[in-house]
Amino acid sequence: MEYYPEAVGRLIEALQQLPGIGPRTAQRLTFYLLSRPGAETQALADALSALRTEVVRCAVCFNVADVDPCRLCQNPSRDSRLLLVVEERPGSTEAATTCSKARSPPWKGLVQTTFA
Ligand SMILES: [Zn+2]
Repeated sequence: MEYYPEAVGRLIEALQQLPGIGPRTAQRLTFYLLSRPGAETQALADALSALRTEVVRCAVCFNVADVDPCRLCQNPSRDSRLLLVVEERPGSTEAATTCSKARSPPWKGLVQTTFA
């Protein structure tokens, strides 16, 4: 087992929690960051911190935004009675594409619904 200063070990552990990052990649990224100028690593730390302090979910459309409701949902020219439903969900692209090919062209997968 390798010995690292506590801060190095903590960063390696934290990076390993990210999808697709294993122990060796986490180690490599940590030592890469140690080799970079302090301003560069501080900018990364600030950007990570801002994710929690400056980003919210829009209560209307659930997209990420810097204000709630988001600027799109605040736009008075949008018709809130219209809802665009997209058949394809993230992570289900292959299945949805297969279904779309079997049933209809992709643009037919879009359904416009009007709420009264
Ligand atoms: Zn919104």
